[in-house]
Amino acid sequence: MAVYDPKSAKAEEFINDEEIKQTLKFAEENKNNIELIDAILEKARPKKNEKGTTCAGLTHREASVLLACEIPEKVEQIYKIAEEIKLAFYGNRIVMFAPLYLSNYCVNGCVYCPYHYKNKHIPRRKLTQEEVRREVIALQDMGHKRLAIESGEDPVNNPIEYILECIKTIYSIKHKNGAIRRVNVNIAATTVENYRKLKEAGIGTYILFQETYHKESYEKLHPTGPKHNYAYHTEAMDRAMEGGIDDVGLGVLFGLEMYKYEFAGLIMHAEHLEAVHGVGPHTISVPRIKHADDIDPAAFDNSISDEIFAKITACIRLAVPYTGMIISTRESEEVRTKLLRLGISQVSGGSRTSVGGYAEEERPHDTEQFDVSDQRTLDQVVCWLMENGHIPSFCTACYREGRTGDRFMSLCKSGQILNCCHPNALMTLTEYLVDYASEKTKKVGFELIEKELEKIPNEKVKRIARENIESIKNSDRRDFRF
Ligand code: SAM
Repeated sequence: MAVYDPKSAKAEEFINDEEIKQTLKFAEENKNNIELIDAILEKARPKKNEKGTTCAGLTHREASVLLACEIPEKVEQIYKIAEEIKLAFYGNRIVMFAPLYLSNYCVNGCVYCPYHYKNKHIPRRKLTQEEVRREVIALQDMGHKRLAIESGEDPVNNPIEYILECIKTIYSIKHKNGAIRRVNVNIAATTVENYRKLKEAGIGTYILFQETYHKESYEKLHPTGPKHNYAYHTEAMDRAMEGGIDDVGLGVLFGLEMYKYEFAGLIMHAEHLEAVHGVGPHTISVPRIKHADDIDPAAFDNSISDEIFAKITACIRLAVPYTGMIISTRESEEVRTKLLRLGISQVSGGSRTSVGGYAEEERPHDTEQFDVSDQRTLDQVVCWLMENGHIPSFCTACYREGRTGDRFMSLCKSGQILNCCHPNALMTLTEYLVDYASEKTKKVGFELIEKELEKIPNEKVKRIARENIESIKNSDRRDFRF
């Protein structure tokens, strides 16, 4: 039997089934142990010291006890601490992005995804470079600066050379005041050599959802194709880091397996990356299965309620306080509103999940990967965020200044976010408002920016930020960032 070892290079040792089962048993036995729960909550709470605010985070066992706990008063405390951590490390900024589907050709047999190779009644499409250009211009015209490219796995139709060519095209397009400044990549697990090529192409985060950490279920849910190989998929982030990519994004597709198992596996994966590479995941995504062409979410019997979903989000926030958290338009406005408070730091807006969807007037459905619940425009999403007290941020400065991996984590831990990310967010939001926003969004936005400028602690930074915002409003772009 495999032994648990977070530092091991083998998937079955760092995501050890026996350790997860023991963790779930421990969590179940202690879910009413008030003394232990209070000690875990105390450990999770952000604390001030002479260097700023720090947070200890939680082990997978500790976090699993909180997830199992159903005592209403304690669950309320989990939510409250999640909010405190969110504000301490991310403030009220929310980073904006959009997915860009390049190709739905796929050789895998994933049973939850409509792109599985047996699905013969959807058209297969792959963007030409001219079509990539059209999509990117449509995205730039909405105001997006950060994309996550998505593709099925098909070595013939979508080889790495195709993905690299698309990245090059995306970065090359400068349309009006638009530019895509960070391309994150969500493509199938690949080799160290290919990860190195992606790094050289200037990608931001490499995102790969584990789908499920439960090996037996994983193999059933991915019956055919290269994705069937659990170890190859689970060890992908180690290869990505070996290839020089230091921002990696984890995720579980909630609904496939029992959520408590997935949660423990996810936190163990984060612990493994920290133990081996000295830096945890840059982001964690929390997608849930959605209806799609030939996919009925009801066919998966591990679906989770909105309430459990919120609790999972809050417990992830407590366990890995320095990791960004992403929620997509798979979720409705209502669910997104609630989760934003509990630790989400990135949201997508105005998304289309079809290949070539942005260049079309009407939302096309034929190649959609899943139904989008939040169908509002980016302008509506930006306005809604601001009305709820968040600052939509189009900033990509960390990536452009080389503040990735542990350098980003140090910035996060140093408490300098209010003197750095906060003014950057306000300046990039000003650019968005001037270039793309409706009159209503502009009004809400400029009022918010005035208020938020006051929160910058350093007087010099505040003055420079104010001057830059004024010059952006007067159409004088300086591409300045802290
Ligand atoms: N083909 C790549 C791979 O295998 O990782 C890229 C990922 S795919 C374009 C993006 C993600 O969408 C998948 O990892 C999966 O978690 C999610 N997805 C697939 N089908 C879905 C569905 N029906 N509802 C919600 N999310 C889905």
